[in-house]
Amino acid sequence: MTTQNADQSGPATTNDAGNPVASDEHSLSVGPDGPLLLQDHYLIEQMAQFNRERIPERQPHAKGGGAFGEFEVTGDVSAYTRAGLFQPGQRTEVLARFSSVAGERGSPDTWRDPRGFALKFYTEEGNFDLVGNNTPVFFMRDPMKFQHFIRSQKRRLDNNLRDHDMQWDFWTLVPESAHQVTWLMGDRGIPRTWRHMNGYSSHTYSWINAGGELFWVKYHFKTDQGIETFTQDEADQMASADTDYHQRDLYEHIRDGEFPSWTLKVQLMPFEEAKTYRFNPFDLTKVWPHGDYPLHEVGRLTLNRNVTDYHTEMEQAAFEPNNLVPGTGLSPDKMLLARGFSYSDAHRARLGGNYRQIPVNEPKSPVHSYSKDGAMRVRNASDPVYAPNSYGGPAAVPERTDDGGRWHADGEMVRTAYTLRPEDDDWGQAGTLVREVLDDAARDRLVDNIVGHLLNGVSDKVLTRAFDYWRNVDADLGKRVEEGVRAKQGEVDPKAAQQANPARTSMQEKA
Ligand code: NDP
Repeated sequence: MTTQNADQSGPATTNDAGNPVASDEHSLSVGPDGPLLLQDHYLIEQMAQFNRERIPERQPHAKGGGAFGEFEVTGDVSAYTRAGLFQPGQRTEVLARFSSVAGERGSPDTWRDPRGFALKFYTEEGNFDLVGNNTPVFFMRDPMKFQHFIRSQKRRLDNNLRDHDMQWDFWTLVPESAHQVTWLMGDRGIPRTWRHMNGYSSHTYSWINAGGELFWVKYHFKTDQGIETFTQDEADQMASADTDYHQRDLYEHIRDGEFPSWTLKVQLMPFEEAKTYRFNPFDLTKVWPHGDYPLHEVGRLTLNRNVTDYHTEMEQAAFEPNNLVPGTGLSPDKMLLARGFSYSDAHRARLGGNYRQIPVNEPKSPVHSYSKDGAMRVRNASDPVYAPNSYGGPAAVPERTDDGGRWHADGEMVRTAYTLRPEDDDWGQAGTLVREVLDDAARDRLVDNIVGHLLNGVSDKVLTRAFDYWRNVDADLGKRVEEGVRAKQGEVDPKAAQQANPARTSMQEKA
């Protein structure tokens, strides 16, 4: 008996070469009950293609989703940047991807974690990417620590479990993490949806105006839907009720014509002021207080088109902070400079050297590069293949570029921390967040979240450091965290704790 598609309106099936195929359901065999034949190339194509469907997931930011949209300039920042995409009235097609950091591709959307906020603007001068987060700061200021940080957030080698002891061990040994960890443990550590969170460049970048003047800039995408968050309990329930809640929410709102939007505002610092500002303005663990550098409106980002093939348009989307257009550039932020290498390197590793020819990554403007050949190159290159040449090949125009932003530096080669400014320390801005931004109810939830997190398999020696860590952020907060943990420790059933994390308990016993 032959089964057929219920809906007969589709086209005839072909193989990947476009040849019509004889059956969607029966392999070629010697008689109905006999062995299969090697010349059934369609069966082989089906099996081989299936075996190759998965590519390595991102390391980190594996779980995510997004959509296409438009960026429209509504303000006038032309005095600060000559970038075409930021000129008054300009509209630019955009791709956005939101993600969690530590979880794998199938992990729950509502785990407590920072969220990635990656944007690709398809401008007339090539792609411009901003690869930010939903927080204005990060856990560290030197890229040497990044790999170690991510490992501490992922899984142990022995039991393949995530481990709060490992997370707090790292954080408490790296005090510069305090500002970001305070943020993470607060309400904003679990956004209700991707639509209800802000996006920040976090890093300081540069803008260059038509006269060649340089300004330091921080980007803030403020959600027009308003900030909404989940409590820990709500998030825990949603993690089991709908693992993909954030993905579903974004997809369904765009499908139903309820397009989410964000207003882009920027903080701008004149070039010279960076030299004497009270905080190091390139330190990724610090914000620029709004009182010092107010926000200027630039435009609106609206997401209005869902992807139709998640793999080709989202899993293969490659965002990289070194995609810069004239009028924009990098800064001396060490983390940003390292990301310029590591992002494109990650794409080469996951997607292959020609990843920029995958349609979602291709610029909408012409490409005249000298790159050629390599695996999976699909666009024709043309002679001449070298520069300089006398046969009409592309020629670089130095005046058209800003070469990643300009600043000068000199000094001996050293391995050392940034030079400290008068108000640079690891705790100050985190303390300001706790004391001056949060209200009493938000502070209570912060204490509860920290206590709950610490009660999940954190060893005594790490716990002691964690209490000091929070006392350094704020004396009262540290006291309440310690009291909260000590009070609840008595209530924790040791058997349940061991079942939750047997490797940790056995390690504690050995110690
Ligand atoms: P402001 O009072 O001008 O700004 C405080 C900002 O804190 C708000 O604008 C809001 O940012 C953000 N905020 C509000 N509630 C929370 C929360 N529950 N968790 C995290 N952030 C929240 O003060 P300052 O600019 O002087 O900054 C004070 C502290 O505020 C900083 O130490 C930093 O921790 C935090 N902050 C500062 C930002 C900045 O760029 N200056 C940005 C975000 C936070 P938003 O409007 O972006 O939602």
